[in-house]
Amino acid sequence: MSVDRRTAWPYDEQGEPGAFVYQRYAHPAGAVAEQALGALEGGDALVYSSGTAAVTACVFALCRPGSTIALAAGAYFGTGVTFAQFAPWGLKVVEFDQTGAPPANADVVWLEAPSNPLLTLPNWDAVRGHSGAVVCDATASTPVFLRALDEGAAVVLHSGTKYLTGHHDALIGATVTRDAELRERLYSARMRLGLSAAPDAAAMLRRGLDTLEVRVRRQTETATELARKLGEHPAVLKVRYPGLGGLISFDVADGSERAVETSTTLILNQTSLGGVQSTMESRHRWEGDRIPVGLLRLSVGLEDVDEIWADLSAALENA
Ligand code: PLP
Repeated sequence: MSVDRRTAWPYDEQGEPGAFVYQRYAHPAGAVAEQALGALEGGDALVYSSGTAAVTACVFALCRPGSTIALAAGAYFGTGVTFAQFAPWGLKVVEFDQTGAPPANADVVWLEAPSNPLLTLPNWDAVRGHSGAVVCDATASTPVFLRALDEGAAVVLHSGTKYLTGHHDALIGATVTRDAELRERLYSARMRLGLSAAPDAAAMLRRGLDTLEVRVRRQTETATELARKLGEHPAVLKVRYPGLGGLISFDVADGSERAVETSTTLILNQTSLGGVQSTMESRHRWEGDRIPVGLLRLSVGLEDVDEIWADLSAALENA
């Protein structure tokens, strides 16, 4: 796969700019990835240097000093941390239970489908008609299981670092919207704040989309089976699995989570999720009291279900 990595492109014979001018504005690999993702989500996509860069672009595009974001409780920890960077600019954040209605006065409603790692799903009926702009982080459901724009979101957001690229080897984020004016504001934030995606990461996202559906359907099948087995295991106190995608979270007795996560061999003990290789980590030590001490987040890969279970059940002997 050849990737055009140029940072600038020559003007034409009349000295006028062509389709691409300067890499920070747009580049061929990004445009191809955006077209493919936009077609899947049914909107106009933009790619960024990370999911976090996409979150940042949304703040600049949708908020003003004094704005309030209603954030789904239990959503990705880092999203709240990113919002907190804007506290000196007067950005306010209130958490709400996304299985119910968001606070009526919020300027932005931030959903996560499913939330990572508590794995709740948004209540779309309770969001429709809200006066604020609705953003849905659909990283974990992927467009295979959710077309958030059809459900009423103004923006769907992805950490493409996860399922869209799928191999734990590219950092990239994306937004998709059908609102032309909002797309311009997001584009301007990306260009002016320097949030653009690297061409190689964009090429990885484009390639990842070719196998996305096959990967996530298989991961869902495997996760469904593993969630069932976990639910029957005596060392497992609680299992969360929303019935779609490859993410499961489950609780073991407080204090035994570290022994479990460090004794798997097939399942890698590392952060991140959505790759072809299964990964698992405890989250309390990173996120604090919002997460049960004994919670382990498992991202199911493409390995054989029996092999994953053999590894996991052997590790649970340590719980
Ligand atoms: N959204 C969700 C649901 C995530 O899980 C993550 C990362 O873990 C992000 C956003 C941030 O993405 P990135 O790490 O690509 O900046």
